[in-house]
Amino acid sequence: MNVKGGRFTVVGAGRSGLAAANALATLGADVHLVDGADKPRPSALDERASYQGGTNAVRPGDIAVLSPGIPEVSPVRQEVAAVASEVIGEVELFARLCPAPIVAITGTDGKSTTTTMIGAIHETSGRPTFVGGNLGNPLTEATGKLSAEHIVVAEISAFQLTTCDRFHPVVAVVTNISEDHLDYHGGYAPYQSAKQRVYATMGEGDVVILNRDDEEISRWTLPTGPSIRWFSIAGEDADAIYRDGVLYLYGRPLMRRDELPLLGQHNVANALAAALAAEASGVDDAVIKRGLMGYAPLPHRLQTVATIDGVRWVNDSKATNPNAAAAGIKAIEGPLILLA
Ligand code: ADP
Repeated sequence: MNVKGGRFTVVGAGRSGLAAANALATLGADVHLVDGADKPRPSALDERASYQGGTNAVRPGDIAVLSPGIPEVSPVRQEVAAVASEVIGEVELFARLCPAPIVAITGTDGKSTTTTMIGAIHETSGRPTFVGGNLGNPLTEATGKLSAEHIVVAEISAFQLTTCDRFHPVVAVVTNISEDHLDYHGGYAPYQSAKQRVYATMGEGDVVILNRDDEEISRWTLPTGPSIRWFSIAGEDADAIYRDGVLYLYGRPLMRRDELPLLGQHNVANALAAALAAEASGVDDAVIKRGLMGYAPLPHRLQTVATIDGVRWVNDSKATNPNAAAAGIKAIEGPLILLA
């Protein structure tokens, strides 16, 4: 994409909007940042960018870079589309500028965990790796710092996928699907459609990794171009499986369950998905095993914070939907007191 001299309005001055505006300004674009809230100019905004708070108005004819915070059902989307020459999101912008292959991870639960597992494996392999996206550090913060030697491991939310168009990962993972964010998308069907956009542009040579145990995903119409790889912890026939305390990759024993330093069977599913994703990018089994063995749980995801008088305290405050909460409850053996 030709950015230098191009005109862009970035809508939404959250962290990803700010990162997009700064990346565009650095590349020589004419950038205007707006935010619907009447807040002052962000101090971290590049001085070459203009700013206006209290409005979502896009300059006529600009390419609009829309914040993932604006719901699919919001009238702001139509207002923006009516005046912009094109509407994209921060992930789409990044993808158009990124020289490195992208591994994308989406799904309802386990995105951050699976993303950081895949990142840990690639880092273990010695390949220069950038891990980011919905995780907290926007992808466009890496614009200009990447080469074709890198691998980008990107957590991508359904919100972000609604403004993707040409975004083309070489490997995509969908961890699982359950009802979430229905108010944002306007229902369960549009939420699932947004998730399916992750593989919309993928073709021959690309790899899509899906959860064989997930009832919703098993009903999806799958793309015919990319290879489809499956993982299962429930005894289904799949490319990566868990059986009798062992994780297997294409029939080869990869590691024992007790070598994976994480609570809960859902994390075995995440590890199988991560192993398939790393293998699809050419990492060998021994490196995958080392990467997973050295993986530390992220804060707030079934994180043991203390053991006091024989009571283990676990922080699972990222369980913000029923499916994640149920997985956390199932992960605890013995008597459980749930503070919710
Ligand atoms: P996300 O990025 O999709 O929100 P996280 O990895 O941050 O996922 O985990 C969020 C919550 O979901 C945590 O409470 C975690 O224990 C739970 N979780 C992680 N992986 C799974 C999974 N595969 N299935 C169900 N719940 C999960």
